[in-house]
Amino acid sequence: MLLTPRARLKSALLASAVSVCLVAASAPEVPLGVGDRLFPHLGNPGYDVASYDLAFTYSGTNTKPLQAVTTIDAWTTTALERINLDFAQGKVESVEVDGEPATFAGAGDDLVVTPEDPLAAGSWTRITVRHTSDPVSTGRDGGWVRTADGLAMANQADAAHLVFPCNDHPSDKAMFTVRITAPDGYTAVAGGLPTGVERTGGTTTWTYRTQHPMATELTQVSIGRSTVVHRQGPHALPVRDVVPTKDRELLEPWLKKTPDQIAWMERKVGPYPFETYGLLMAEASTGFELETQTLSLFERDLFTEPAYPKWYIESIMVHELSHQWFGDSVSPRTWSDLWLNEGHATWYEALYAEEKAGRTLEARMKAAYGASDRWRSTGGPPAQPKAPNPGQKISIFRPNVYDGAALVLYALRQEIGRTAFEHLERAWVHNHRDSTATTADFVRLAQEISGRDLARFFKDWLYGEKTPLMPGHPDWKPAPPVAKGEPKAAPKVARPAGPAAK
Ligand SMILES: [Zn+2]
Repeated sequence: MLLTPRARLKSALLASAVSVCLVAASAPEVPLGVGDRLFPHLGNPGYDVASYDLAFTYSGTNTKPLQAVTTIDAWTTTALERINLDFAQGKVESVEVDGEPATFAGAGDDLVVTPEDPLAAGSWTRITVRHTSDPVSTGRDGGWVRTADGLAMANQADAAHLVFPCNDHPSDKAMFTVRITAPDGYTAVAGGLPTGVERTGGTTTWTYRTQHPMATELTQVSIGRSTVVHRQGPHALPVRDVVPTKDRELLEPWLKKTPDQIAWMERKVGPYPFETYGLLMAEASTGFELETQTLSLFERDLFTEPAYPKWYIESIMVHELSHQWFGDSVSPRTWSDLWLNEGHATWYEALYAEEKAGRTLEARMKAAYGASDRWRSTGGPPAQPKAPNPGQKISIFRPNVYDGAALVLYALRQEIGRTAFEHLERAWVHNHRDSTATTADFVRLAQEISGRDLARFFKDWLYGEKTPLMPGHPDWKPAPPVAKGEPKAAPKVARPAGPAAK
């Protein structure tokens, strides 16, 4: 995810606080979680989802809930009397477990399903939920995004379960089939490749399937008055963009940049990890862009706002593209590992701006160094971010995990040298592709590749309250803390000059 300048400013101005609550795991019908430090109720223990089949029926109006059927195939890892799913904001009509009706109840953000017979450990089970999926948010951020001509999705970090019942944590990746039925005149696209289009009496059903596992937070479904624009990427990779039909010509100068950007990333880190890529141009004011797997979500206005310099927009395209490797193919095991997503995406965003537009990485990192202590005090150290404030739009996406984390990568490159660093980046996305990985995995691989003991280095850079000295730049100094009563300054990096910086 990348906040647009407006939202970055807001994120810098908002203070943060820690709020964590724990629940007893033994009581009946209580929300459970997988113990994520930042989102204790996300995910559920006792099973591992292999695949989701999501079927949505869109009526043609954005204010009416969609009818939906979610089918989950899962492997039980313990014996289960109840199955907790994450689900909120929709109405559940019925639940079946292995074809038999099951009882269900809501508990917080969980849908607690009780099958007729308990499930044995180590067995396959199929859970079918008939429900509605409501695009009208009840004051919560994420899930469906209402666009000028339909709907899109933005589920990161904790909002997929506002759209469909799921095990809503990136540690449980699964395969997805998505079927969307919409009135004629609409085009529906989801992540992955199309597998069929069926037209019947005024409606069309579009089906898509992923060829790689995906985290729930990375699902994308677009329904709109759209055109799908096809082109070819490196090695004949199918690239398809989804754009408002009326804007096709207007956006083409940007869209045609993608194949070269993919080739650029492949030269840096190795083969593109998925079966397709493309941009979804949404006519909506989300305040961010999002790396939904194989189909990144962008605000259309980012490309039409005259005040944004060309190099800036291109570097943001590369930010979301690089997430396909860092964050999507290799996804975080816990949300505290978010710095691995955003630090790398910021790194390649900045590297691209350096190579293509002469915006030096060193200047950007020096500016980040100046702000880093302040970012750490507001958002926590990069690998131990503070919890989101309830109801706060920016959630955990603060500067500490963007430029603050790219700064850690810069320090690492200074410490182990360019050759070892570049080897590490390629090995990271290769070794952990289609999987999840932790901060400890990254530290281990960095040590292995550099042949160095980096325990102390990473402890200080990833978990320290203060930013350590920058190797090779002893003259770099953190900016003095902001005096009491003075407004906190917005981050001085990655924002284009001129009136766009609102
Ligand atoms: Zn990002």
